[in-house]
Amino acid sequence: MSDSQPSAHIGRCGFCEQGLVRLYRCNACAAVSAICDECERIWRVPAEVHDDPDAPADAAHPSCPACASGHVTWSRLDAAGIAAAGLEHLVAGDST
Ligand SMILES: [Zn+2]
Ligand SMILES: [Zn+2]
Repeated sequence: MSDSQPSAHIGRCGFCEQGLVRLYRCNACAAVSAICDECERIWRVPAEVHDDPDAPADAAHPSCPACASGHVTWSRLDAAGIAAAGLEHLVAGDST
């Protein structure tokens, strides 16, 4: 789930304490969720994990908590995608 491109994250994962939580769009249902790039936990509502890094996760990759599909792929939102989703206020910083 990680690559070398810098991209926005919304905070550090409170579970693995290693990963950064980033915004992704489900390629099956187009829902925007937050995913940890280390442990791959998924939070259905990005604002919840942004406000509380220990908020319980709703699913784990490759399941989607929104469409309940057991195996989906995700597209990481770039800055334009985050803006289009109206989630810029959640962004905590950019990093690889
Ligand atoms: Zn994590
Ligand atoms: Zn989905």
